[in-house]
Amino acid sequence: MTSRNQYDMQNPLTQFPQPTYPAQVQTPPGTVHKLTPAAEHGEKSYVGLGRMKSRKALVTGADSGIGRAVAIAFAREGADVALNYLPEEEEDAAEVVALIEAEGRKAIAIPGDLQDEQFCSDLVEKAVKGLGGLDVLANIAGKQLAVEKIEDLTTEQFDATFRTNIHALFWVCKAALPHLPAGATIINTASIQAYQPSPNLLDYAPTKAAIVNFTKALAQQVAERGIRVNAVAPGPVWTPLQPAGGQPPEAIPEFGSKTPLKRAGQPVEMAPAYVLLATQESSYITGEVIGATGGMLLP
Ligand code: NAD
Ligand code: MG
Repeated sequence: MTSRNQYDMQNPLTQFPQPTYPAQVQTPPGTVHKLTPAAEHGEKSYVGLGRMKSRKALVTGADSGIGRAVAIAFAREGADVALNYLPEEEEDAAEVVALIEAEGRKAIAIPGDLQDEQFCSDLVEKAVKGLGGLDVLANIAGKQLAVEKIEDLTTEQFDATFRTNIHALFWVCKAALPHLPAGATIINTASIQAYQPSPNLLDYAPTKAAIVNFTKALAQQVAERGIRVNAVAPGPVWTPLQPAGGQPPEAIPEFGSKTPLKRAGQPVEMAPAYVLLATQESSYITGEVIGATGGMLLP
């Protein structure tokens, strides 16, 4: 499986592990090393074609899951990458740094908590300084904790989910925009949850709907500066987020089975959409949401 790359034709139904998956629970924020089966982030399989040669990219949530796959893909496509993640995720992040450096690209590790507005602005300043500028911003970090009943959803969690998924997006974009030249792109991470909310994601799903709307509004605002803003909306993807509280434990074995492609997506399958939106190939695409959902329908 891993000897094939993203250009080899395969049956998408059987390309990656299918349900059922082993029951498993992690403590947030989770790690890729406790996922069974292991997730595919393109470490061995993603082939770059120089589509982002010498671009300077900041990726949040870059240690694991979708952000890890995107950071690897950006580096394989020729970009230097600044990575943000939580301090307790250093082990996962160090592996991504090593993979980027193995491509001969620069990797700038900037751990810290995006719920802190001051950190969001420091993050951008450090990325700009370390990379010598900034022209791609991929906002991928996110918080998801399933709670069955509104009575059990605390104000603290509601607040933390909005701060991580929406406030931080505003703060990072605001700090980054003065540094972005014409031709730069911002890529946000929405979700199928923006359109088809699960009853147990009463805080998370609305943040994803807000991300779609924020993406469209900001795209309209900064188009005249030559900056494009888009989003990727993943469906169910095999990442630490899900066993670390994103789903109730009993939902993990069947995770992704209800999609038309009948399995969970892998992080590496998200990366091509981010790469497309990061490069000049998508020069006439802005304010758009690209679904990577295994066939679940966006409106
Ligand atoms: P993941 O757990 O691998 O990545 C999420 C990352 O968010 C963590 O690694 C962590 O570094 C970061 N993060 C969380 N809180 C943070 C904070 N306060 N400060 C700094 N960083 C913080 O899981 P993933 O599934 O790859 O998630 C990436 C994005 O994809 C999220 O925005 C998530 O909502 C979105 N998404 C995931 C799925 C899915 O099924 N996995 C589906 C749709 C959307
Ligand atoms: Mg992580």
